Order: sequence, then C-alpha cells, then structure tokens
Amino acid sequence: MSWESTGEYYRIINTTIRNQLGGLHSAKCVLYSVDFHEVEKCQSNGDWDTIAHTLSQAAMCLEKAGADFVAICSNTIHKVADEIQNHISVPIVHIADVTAEQIISSSFSRVGILGTRFTLEEDFYINRLISKGIQVVIPEREDREKIDRIIFDELCLGIIRPESKETYLEVINKLTTKGAQAVILGCTEIGLLVNQGDVKVPLFDTCYIHAYQAAMLALV
Ligand code: GLU
Repeated sequence: MSWESTGEYYRIINTTIRNQLGGLHSAKCVLYSVDFHEVEKCQSNGDWDTIAHTLSQAAMCLEKAGADFVAICSNTIHKVADEIQNHISVPIVHIADVTAEQIISSSFSRVGILGTRFTLEEDFYINRLISKGIQVVIPEREDREKIDRIIFDELCLGIIRPESKETYLEVINKLTTKGAQAVILGCTEIGLLVNQGDVKVPLFDTCYIHAYQAAMLALV
C-alpha cells in the first residue's frame, strides 16, 4: 500500500530470485501500485467496501496480466483478503499464513505483535494466528496508538526517527516481559525502523517473510 514498503517487497523479491538463480536473473512480476492516500482515507473512514472493490479490481488486472498468484503488500489490507479472493481464480498468498508457518517451524508458541490498530484490534489477523495454535500477546491500548501513529505519520512517508525506534523497542520489551518468545513485525513498514540487530528477541518481519515466500513460490 505505502510505496515505502512496496519498494522493499520489490527489492526482496528480486534479491531472492538473484540469490537463487544467480547472474542477471530477476523476478518476472507484475506490480499494481495504488494511491495510498485514497486507500488510507477509506481505512480511516471505515469504508472497507471501497477498499475491497479497489483491490479486487487491481487483483483482477494482475490475473489478466498473467500472475500465477497474488501477494497483498500490507497486513492491514488482509482484512478484505477473502473478498478480493472471490474475484480471482489464482490464489492469494496470505501474509498471516506464511508468517505463522515460519513461527511454527521455529517452534515458538507465544509471540508478541506490532502493527496498525486494525491488525491488532480486529479479528481477521490475530484469529488466523490463534487458529494455528499460536498465542498472541498484543500491546496495551496506549502503546497500540503510538505504534499506529508512527506507522501512518512517519513510516509510510519514509520518515525514520530515533525516538520512534526507542518507542518500538520499549513496546517490544514489554511484550517479552509478558512472555512473548518472539515478536511479529505485523506491518510491512516496521522493518524500515526496527530490525533484528536492535533486539535479542527473535523478530518475524512480515514484509521480508511474505516477499521471500512469494519469490520462492514463483520458482516452484
Ligand atoms: N503496510 C501496513 C501493514 O502492513 C500498513 C499500511 C496500510 O494500512 O496498508 O499493515
């Protein structure tokens, strides 16, 4: 959605393909980029029908362009993933599913999560993790608000502030105090601010995991 994270997806997908195939290989992919201003407005107004419609049209274009599967480059937009899936016959690679697979294969059962207020406060994402047997520790309301504000006012605009990083690190710390064995960066822009070198607790960066799995799936 924000092109800050879409750029990361493009980089990770191409890097993965080059690492797998070597030489000058790069990814055959079709990118449908939206105007995030319009999407975010709908999110804030609770107009998810318009988002589902816009993204379904985009997904149909990707299918027509020859895509074998679709990756939606935002955790939040997976709120309408089922509606989008109903408009296309190729599969959507669900960001929560590929993340859950990584968590389970790393043998973690209790994880913390950072993300937008939609991802953290609604059922569509957290319940998907819970249904796979993962216990999820969610930040307190005050921290959720801070995390959300930093995503939309800073990260989606490419603004990286050391004090915001501190805020995130404090929240990660609180999550581990509550028993989180690992933490999901459940928003595709968070990796721009925080990465594994900043903390001891294992991080699951949904942007990296999703983009990497998409690239690997393309090679199958
Ligand atoms: N990319 C973000 C996510 O992964 C948030 C921005 C958006 O609302 O799409 O949830």
